[in-house]
Amino acid sequence: MDVSHLLDELNDAQRQAVTAEDGHLLVLAGAGSGKTRVLVHRIAWLIQVHHVSPMSLMAVTFTNKAAGEMRGRVGRLLDLRPEGLWIGTFHGICHRLLRMHAAEVNLPDTFQILDSEDQYRLVRRVIRDQQIDEGEHPPRQVQGFINHHKDEGRRPGQIEHFDQGFQARQVEIYQRYQDYCERSGLVDFAELLLRSVELLRDNPERRAHYQARFGNILIDEFQDTNTLQYALVRLLAGERNHLFVVGDDDQSIYGWRGARVENVAHYNRDFQPELIRLEQNYRSTRTILEAANRVIDHNDDRMGKNLWTEGEQGEPIRRFAAFNAEEEAEFVIARIQDWIAQGGRPSDCAVLYRSNAQSRLFEQTLLREDIPYRVYGGLRFFERAEIKDAMAYLRLLHNPHDDTAFERVINVPARGIGERTVARIRDHARTNGQSLAQAATEQVAQGGLSARAGHAVRSFLALVADLTEACGSASLAGAARAVVERTELVAWYQTREPADRAEAREENLSELVRAADSFQQPFEDEQAGLSPMASFLSQAALEAGEHQAERWEDCVQLMTLHSAKGLEFPLVFMAGMEEGLFPHQKSIEEPGRLAEERRLCYVGMTRAMQRLYITHAESRQTYGQTSFSRPSRFVAEIPEPLIESIRSGFRVTPAASGREAPPDTGGLALGASVRHSRFGSGTVVSLEGQGPNARIQVNFEDAGSKWLVLAYANLERI
Ligand code: ATP
Ligand code: MG
Repeated sequence: MDVSHLLDELNDAQRQAVTAEDGHLLVLAGAGSGKTRVLVHRIAWLIQVHHVSPMSLMAVTFTNKAAGEMRGRVGRLLDLRPEGLWIGTFHGICHRLLRMHAAEVNLPDTFQILDSEDQYRLVRRVIRDQQIDEGEHPPRQVQGFINHHKDEGRRPGQIEHFDQGFQARQVEIYQRYQDYCERSGLVDFAELLLRSVELLRDNPERRAHYQARFGNILIDEFQDTNTLQYALVRLLAGERNHLFVVGDDDQSIYGWRGARVENVAHYNRDFQPELIRLEQNYRSTRTILEAANRVIDHNDDRMGKNLWTEGEQGEPIRRFAAFNAEEEAEFVIARIQDWIAQGGRPSDCAVLYRSNAQSRLFEQTLLREDIPYRVYGGLRFFERAEIKDAMAYLRLLHNPHDDTAFERVINVPARGIGERTVARIRDHARTNGQSLAQAATEQVAQGGLSARAGHAVRSFLALVADLTEACGSASLAGAARAVVERTELVAWYQTREPADRAEAREENLSELVRAADSFQQPFEDEQAGLSPMASFLSQAALEAGEHQAERWEDCVQLMTLHSAKGLEFPLVFMAGMEEGLFPHQKSIEEPGRLAEERRLCYVGMTRAMQRLYITHAESRQTYGQTSFSRPSRFVAEIPEPLIESIRSGFRVTPAASGREAPPDTGGLALGASVRHSRFGSGTVVSLEGQGPNARIQVNFEDAGSKWLVLAYANLERI
């Protein structure tokens, strides 16, 4: 059999990894060196050359998107559909395990996944029910506490604490939250992993079964595995199975969420793998690669590696200092338009930012310019309010006792059911050990509610009953359509929101029906006897967001730096490169976290293949306040010859360009010494614009260079 195509496009080190003899392997290598490619080829090699059954392979990736791509690439290499091959994220794989063994881990068949927003609401509910002070125990912080301990494999009883006091309280909330989840058949993300680990650890039969099944386990992005994930890997590997692990310590960016780069060292200790290093980068120009290498050089404690490329030098990295965030967005979109005008595709372009909120201005500008785009991460499709509303109805059809869903939509669309009524139903449910649906039905029947509230609750129960009946034999898409139509969610949003927002929600709801229509139940779910509806609901919680905007395949990609991991784009913008934003304010004080931010910067830069822009704004609105900031320290870490500043030649509006008349300097001249109430003293280095648009650039001794609007700057000459 000719297998040369599996090796042709690989260098020697890559080939060595792909064709390694049985045993454990660690490929430790920098960005763009072909780690993911090697992993894909290894799968094909095992199947084709070693005749390993696809059923006995497990491949773990970091996102569902990456899993989908991997499946496609293996399929193309082998020219077949690798049925039965388990490719997925840790969460996806654990979900599958739990579905197959729900009873053994004490979960109802209908268990539902709680995404992080649902989890937050539930934690807050538990805190309120216990009448615990939310100021002292903020729900977000308690949620973090719970997840942190779960990620480390600890149940409430395993957390050491004093009998009383702050931590005892937190543990108590964790316990009550957990009790609630057990009663309602809810599983949060960390629980998916924890239960799976417990299943394999405590059930020798199951452990033996899966150890016998998965002879080869391959893991991408290993540097970002957490304690539980590594525990799972060890349990599955047992004594005999082969691990193929690829990763890059310089790209470990999820420490804040429990990832442990030490797992690389643990893996070395526990399995003594053969180490292979890949040093040639195939992705980026020499300029981009060198700049990224120089930035990451500022970190200590690196495992250290050498990355080079045969690629061309390429263009310098371009840096744009915008006056404000609006100008930054204008600049970025104008460059994307140039790219498209020169024959490039929208999907070649990626705008990367540190935090989700930054996407809004880019979205606005792209919308105005009619350029298709897609936002990854952030408020993902399945996390949007209207989608969650519709999904909550679907969840109630699937399981009427789903309290989280019940509570979400009892008054959505608004039907006059207030917080007091809900509290009464909740009390009744708690006292009688019932679900909210049961309690509501009883309260209505017993006349336990006021006439108005009783009427409203009755109409909600009737709506759910009608839907349940109508959807009894309907397809999944039929059920989704019925929910969207009969609940009148669209009309409700129209009465509450401006037309464009409501329209977007309507589009999203249609998209949901389409998603339901094109939903293909995973083979394993079907085998496990799951209904399409149950599969769909779980996939939605797991895959949040990866279905949106399928109609626009060719669109500009907007995403956080975190979600750009593993991807590559010809044209990349790193926006908002400002101290306080990136590195994030919270990480500046802690050296460990600052190093993680720098790795994030390295990840961002190494996504770029041909062209990289770095932009920062001198002022931006955050929480309704204007804040001023200096460029990120990471920008200064890029050596001078590799980066080129552009400032002139781009203006937002002609009025600000100052082309028509010489700038109105208000009596200030270049080189004048001035004082500003906040920034202190400095020297005028540049002036532009007229009247209210006149702007002045001052080099402040302490605060660095700033552009200010002359009319508001209140500069004092000194
Ligand atoms: P990251 O660390 O960002 O995840 P990676 O190490 O996984 O990167 P890949 O995504 O596998 O790197 O590869 C980077 C790019 O280089 C891809 O476009 C890939 O197709 C290409 N590539 C990898 N190896 C070779 C090779 N031997 N010849 C040509 N192109 C290659
Ligand atoms: Mg990769």
